[in-house]
Amino acid sequence: MDIFKTQNRLEFSERFKTDFDCKEYLSEMKWKDGFKCVKCGHGGSQVRKDLARTCNICRHTESATANTLFHKVKFGVRKAFVICYEIASSSERLSVRYISVRHGIHYSNARLFMQKVRKAMDIFKAQNHLEFSERFKTDFDCREYLSELKWKDGFKCVKCGHGGSQVRKDLARTCKNCSHTESATANTLFHKVKFSVRKAFVICQETASSSERLSVSYMAVRHGVHYNTARLFMHKVRKAMESSGKHPTDGTVVMDELVLVSNLKKER
Ligand SMILES: [Zn+2]
Ligand SMILES: [Zn+2]
Repeated sequence: MDIFKTQNRLEFSERFKTDFDCKEYLSEMKWKDGFKCVKCGHGGSQVRKDLARTCNICRHTESATANTLFHKVKFGVRKAFVICYEIASSSERLSVRYISVRHGIHYSNARLFMQKVRKAMDIFKAQNHLEFSERFKTDFDCREYLSELKWKDGFKCVKCGHGGSQVRKDLARTCKNCSHTESATANTLFHKVKFSVRKAFVICQETASSSERLSVSYMAVRHGVHYNTARLFMHKVRKAMESSGKHPTDGTVVMDELVLVSNLKKER
């Protein structure tokens, strides 16, 4: 579902001009780890003109749309993509009538398809929310995540460039050459936040994943932080979102990007 939220309208219409473009996208997503026949498990297939694949062993054919939202839609796949995009990117709840008139499709077809899309979106959101709270239960979890992201290519001291370090209890690292210590939060959005790192993670996730613009006073009250503190932090989050070119989306993917973006900005 991500694709429908992260692209702006122009990018979207540039990328998906025809039914074929949409099927290409679906088949890339579906078989990104390679084809595996749903009937016999074989890995070899022949690609057909419409991007369906026929198993080399049992001849079972799977279309690019099978097992997706777009299976057997009563209007073109491209139209279904556009409707999906409009539902996912609209801040209001679009009516069935509006969609059916706008796209010239039957009311009940529009209603059924819109139900499917909304169900898929709910599952997607709930999953992301659950994954997030499972993954980040404590400050330590958040620091661990930041340090893994920050030093994923190995430690390099910001003062002397040395590669050797000692890991401290709070996951900060001390350079073995010059003894400079860098915390897991340094050069990230979460540096010196006036509340716990975990709380900052939650605020960041909520700001990044909400389709509405959440107000500062809402966040301050919700998380029991000072209005000005909330305002400054939310401003930082939104700035990082803008530089990453991201519209509000769900989940930790955004977190990765935000953290990396704020890192980059410091390095420049
Ligand atoms: Zn097969
Ligand atoms: Zn050093």
